[in-house]
Amino acid sequence: MMAHVWIREQVGGEWAVGSLGDAAVSLCSSGRTDTGRPAGGAAGELTLALAENQGEGEPVATLIPVADGWAVIARAAGDGLRLNGWPLAVGLRVLRDKDELVVAGHSPVFYSDEALPLVEPYPGDDDPRCPRCRLAIHKGDSAKGDGAKGDGAKGDSAKGDGAVRCGCGIWYHQTDEYPCFDYGESCLTCGRSTSLGSGFSWSPEEL
Ligand SMILES: [Zn+2]
Ligand SMILES: [Zn+2]
Repeated sequence: MMAHVWIREQVGGEWAVGSLGDAAVSLCSSGRTDTGRPAGGAAGELTLALAENQGEGEPVATLIPVADGWAVIARAAGDGLRLNGWPLAVGLRVLRDKDELVVAGHSPVFYSDEALPLVEPYPGDDDPRCPRCRLAIHKGDSAKGDGAKGDGAKGDSAKGDGAVRCGCGIWYHQTDEYPCFDYGESCLTCGRSTSLGSGFSWSPEEL
């Protein structure tokens, strides 16, 4: 999983994760809370939703992928889009982890670039060194053998390495024999947690 945004759900007001893939998405105002729907946030607040297409609400901001992450563009002129409390009337701003976006009258939205570590077949041909064990990481299927879909290679005995990419971009082995990623508590390069399956370490509820 890549970058994501935290948005309050329209019903119940719980924080929900909206994944950001590789295409631009709009933050759309999904309607007033005073039209008979249960109020999500505080009284009178509007709620936002991610939409890949127009027509799913009024777009108030657009999130676009940029070289190394995501950026935001204000859509509704004069609608008071604020980034960490500062007005963003025009132009494009690159988002940073835990940035807060507020559209006037709406619950805040938080951007996070925290990625959940995922065990997957190493995709490259470049045989990089694993920072934990210093051995090469080979392209291939995951250790559990559940990655062998398509390409008609079912009978192929080639067994490559299951691996995990840390949020900093560095890959580690993660197999029964070489559980390098979660062998230590943190990444040797960036210090991020290496626990698998523990969910996001940060959410807006901490604020
Ligand atoms: Zn290793
Ligand atoms: Zn790292």
